[in-house]
Amino acid sequence: MNQTPDQFHADLMADTVAFPVLSAAELVECTEFGTRCSFSAGEEIFGAGSQSFDCYVIVLGDVCIMDVSTDEPTCIVRYGAGQFTGDIDLFTGRRAVGSCQAATVVEAIRIAPDRVREMLVRQPTLGARIWRAFQRRRELLMTTDFQGMRVYGAKDDKQTLETVELLFRNGVPHHWMNIAEEKNATRLREIAGSEPRYPVIIWGKNLLFQNPGLSQLAEHIGLRHRLPQKTYDVVVLGSGPSGLGAAICASSEGLSTLVLDGIGPGGQASSSSKIENYAGFPNGVTGRELAQLSYLQALKFGAEFVAPCHVTELKRYGDGLYQVRTSEDDVAIAKTVIIATGVSYRLLDVEGSNDLLASGLYYNATAVEARMCKGWPVHVIGAGNSAGQAAMFLTQYARKVTLVVRGGDLRKNMSSYLCDRVVANPQIEIRYHTQVTAIEGAEHIGAVHLRDEDGNVVREDTTGLFIFIGAKPRTDFLPPELARDDKGFVLTGPAVSKLASWKEQRLPEALETSLLGVFASGDCRSGTTKRVAFAIGDGALAVTCVHNLLGTYATRRLDALNKISVDRADAKSH
Ligand SMILES: Cc1cc2nc3c(=O)[nH]c(=O)nc-3n(C[C@H](O)[C@H](O)[C@H](O)COP(=O)(O)OP(=O)(O)OC[C@H]3O[C@@H](n4cnc5c(N)ncnc54)[C@H](O)[C@@H]3O)c2cc1C
Repeated sequence: MNQTPDQFHADLMADTVAFPVLSAAELVECTEFGTRCSFSAGEEIFGAGSQSFDCYVIVLGDVCIMDVSTDEPTCIVRYGAGQFTGDIDLFTGRRAVGSCQAATVVEAIRIAPDRVREMLVRQPTLGARIWRAFQRRRELLMTTDFQGMRVYGAKDDKQTLETVELLFRNGVPHHWMNIAEEKNATRLREIAGSEPRYPVIIWGKNLLFQNPGLSQLAEHIGLRHRLPQKTYDVVVLGSGPSGLGAAICASSEGLSTLVLDGIGPGGQASSSSKIENYAGFPNGVTGRELAQLSYLQALKFGAEFVAPCHVTELKRYGDGLYQVRTSEDDVAIAKTVIIATGVSYRLLDVEGSNDLLASGLYYNATAVEARMCKGWPVHVIGAGNSAGQAAMFLTQYARKVTLVVRGGDLRKNMSSYLCDRVVANPQIEIRYHTQVTAIEGAEHIGAVHLRDEDGNVVREDTTGLFIFIGAKPRTDFLPPELARDDKGFVLTGPAVSKLASWKEQRLPEALETSLLGVFASGDCRSGTTKRVAFAIGDGALAVTCVHNLLGTYATRRLDALNKISVDRADAKSH
C-alpha cells in the first residue's frame, strides 16, 4: 500500500462543500443519532464492497478513504476531526465504492443510514450540509483517476454495451476497457486467461464475473434486490423524466413510492447530450445530469428504486390492489400505479449510426441541433408529421433540407396542410423512394449515401441527419382492458370518460386510465408533447391524481366507518 502525502489530493480537500468541518454544536447534534466507537491505527472502518455501510463522524484522529479498485490501493482523501465519512451510496443502498481505514487512533460517532435520513429531516441545516457533501463527493470522485468497476469487452459486443449502459445509467463508477487496445487485452489475459467470456468484470485484482446477466451484476452492486413484500401507495413504472417527476412528488408528499425501470434512471433523455429547453438551466443540462439529480432528489425523500426490473404484467385483484410482475418474477403490490414507460424511437439501422448519435445524428430537431447546422445542408428521414415539422423548422437554419422518403406519397402519413407547406418550400428537396444506406464521419457526420428505387447511390455532404421513422409506446405489457389509441398510446381522463367501459359514477381523474387507480404520464400517454419538461410535469400531475383518488378511498373508508357506527347506534336504540 502506498500512501504518500502528495496523494492526499489537497485539491479535493480544499472543496469545503465536499469536506466540511462540522462545528462543535453540529457534532453535538450528531451524537443524538449515533453511537460512540473507536478504532486503532490501521484498522478497517468499512471495506469497499460493504453494503449498507454506516456514516462515521470523526471526533478524534484521521481516516483515509482508499481506492482499492486499481492494482495498487491508493488513498484518495484523508480527513479528520469534525469531518464525516460516506457518500450518496449510503442512500442508494449500493455497495461502498471505497474502503475507509483509520490512519491514526480514531474516535467517532457511528450513524446508520436510516438515522442519517432522519437527521436530514429533523436537523435540516446540518442535514443539507451532509447531503450536499455526499453529492459533491461523488461528482469529485468521477473527476479523479478512480477506476471503479472495469468492464473488459469489445465495442461491438452487445452484452458489453448493455453492461456499460446499465452502469452508466445508474451512475455506477466504472471504466470500459476496450480489448481492441493491446495493453487491455494483455491485462485481461493475465487475469482471466486466454478464452474469456465477455464482458469480463474486474474490481482491483479480482475477477468478479465473466459474461454476467444484467440482473446478476445489478444484484451484486445493490441496484437490484427482491421487491419488498409491502403495499405501496404508488408504484411508478419507468424512471425516465416522467417517472422521476412522479417519484419526487409522490415521495416528498409522503406517499410510499416504488420505482421500477428496465435499465435505470433517465429514459430517453439520458441520451440527450444537452437539454436546453428545461427550466432552471440557462446553459443547458445533459440528460444524464438531470436524471442523476432527479434520482437523488427522489431518494432523499425516501422513494425506493429497483433496476433493472422489466415489468411484464399489471393485474388488479378483488381487493382493488394491483400486482405488478417483472420478468425477474418479482411482484410488487400497489394501491395505485403510474405508467411512465415512454416510447422507443425506431432507430436507424445503418452501420455507425450509434457512434454519431448527437454528433450530427439526431432523433430530435430542436433549436439546439438546428443551430449547429446553420448555413449547412441537412437531411431528414421520414414521412410523418414529425419529419415534416422538422424539415420546415430546419429551413430556418440550414442552407438546404433534403427530405428522404422511403415511399412515393407524402400525404399518406402527413397532415395535408403540412404536406402542402413542405412541398411548396423551395429550401426543401424531397427525394421519394429513397433510403439512407450509409453514413460517413468520425467525430461528426460528414456525408450520407442515398439509394433510389433503381439502386443508384449518391453521396451527399451533410451536417445533420434527423431521423423520424416512428416511435412506438412501450405499452405492450399492459392488460387488454387498459384502453389505448390506435397507435398503442394510453388513453386517459376525458378520452376514458367517453368509453363505454367506464362505469363509475365519477369522472376519471385527468391522467387516470380505464383501469381505476392506474394513471399514465409522459410520452406513453396519448396526445402528450414529447418533451422532457412536459414529461416531468405530467408525472407530477399524475401524483395529484393519485392523491385525489386515495383521498376518495379515505372518504369511502370514513363513510364505511360512519355507517358501522350508525348501524351500532340503531341496534342499541332497538
Ligand atoms: C436523443 C434524444 C434527445 C432528446 N432531447 C430532448 C431535448 O433536448 N429536450 C426535450 O424536451 N426533449 C428531448 N427528447 C425527448 C424526451 O427525452 C422525452 O420526451 C422524455 O424522455 C419522455 O420521458 P418519459 O419519462 O415519458 O419516457 P422515457 O424517457 O422514454 O422513459 C421511460 C422509461 O421507462 C422504462 N421502461 C419502459 N418499459 C418498461 C418496462 N416494461 N418495465 C420497466 N421499465 C420500463 C425505460 O427503461 C425508460 O427508462 C429527446 C429524446 C431523445 C431520444
